[in-house]
Amino acid sequence: MKQSSIKAKKKFGQNFLKDESVLAKIIESMPKNDNKVIEIGPGLGDLTKFLVNVKSVEAFEVDTDLCTLLQEKFQQELQTKRLSLHCGDVLEAWKGSLSDEAYDLVANLPYYIATNIILKALADEKCHNILVMVQREVAEKFCAAPGEKSFGALSVIAQSIARCTITQTVPPEAFDPAPKVDSAVMLLEKFQSRSDEEFEKFLRVCFKQPRKTLQKNLSERFDKKVLGEIFVRMNLPHTVRPHQLSTDDYHQLYTLLKK
Ligand code: SAM
Repeated sequence: MKQSSIKAKKKFGQNFLKDESVLAKIIESMPKNDNKVIEIGPGLGDLTKFLVNVKSVEAFEVDTDLCTLLQEKFQQELQTKRLSLHCGDVLEAWKGSLSDEAYDLVANLPYYIATNIILKALADEKCHNILVMVQREVAEKFCAAPGEKSFGALSVIAQSIARCTITQTVPPEAFDPAPKVDSAVMLLEKFQSRSDEEFEKFLRVCFKQPRKTLQKNLSERFDKKVLGEIFVRMNLPHTVRPHQLSTDDYHQLYTLLKK
């Protein structure tokens, strides 16, 4: 399989990262540890080439044409087990943990499933750190601070268990073909091993209608009188909107409402 005969497939979210300075900065931003790396969607192998120089890599690629190309390109790394390659859909392989060993996820993600992949990695206790290229808007949702417009359930879920930083923003021209939107690389460094499913469900209620008041959203699930008392106890105005609370406030509110 020749690289020149490969055409990017939209249905797999294929935008290949060509800018070497962006690739180098991703490598620079990798957490320094002994964890192996899992790469989702190695594509033509441009990021993989850098990754195998610094770590052992396990990669998952759904596109069989790209898999054949990667098997040819990385013959030596596959032989020495510096790289192992799974040809198939990563979401089908992801039952519980994606690996038996501690790993960091480093990838230029397919954007159509990026949020789903990040939530799975946050819930996967073997995943210690996540360094991924995503749509800029998605990175801003995960990393937003309280009070900011993008602050929502994804920010609270992520920031409850990880430190979130946007390490670089990337323009469309860095890719071939160029996507329609700006991209960003974000680093989520977990300080807790996994997210809490029940808390996530609670947050979805809190942010169900982001422009409404938090009390209005919660009143669909919880007793209004109890809510009123808890809001007074936490010093929260009854007009407060969901994006105005901090991550700690959400944990306190959840604990009080569970009692
Ligand atoms: N890593 C390459 C790069 O930086 O140029 C390619 C990134 S491209 C944005 C996303 C890659 O994810 C593509 O190679 C695509 O085929 C692959 N992909 C899409 N859906 C996938 C899935 N469900 N499981 C595994 N790989 C997938």
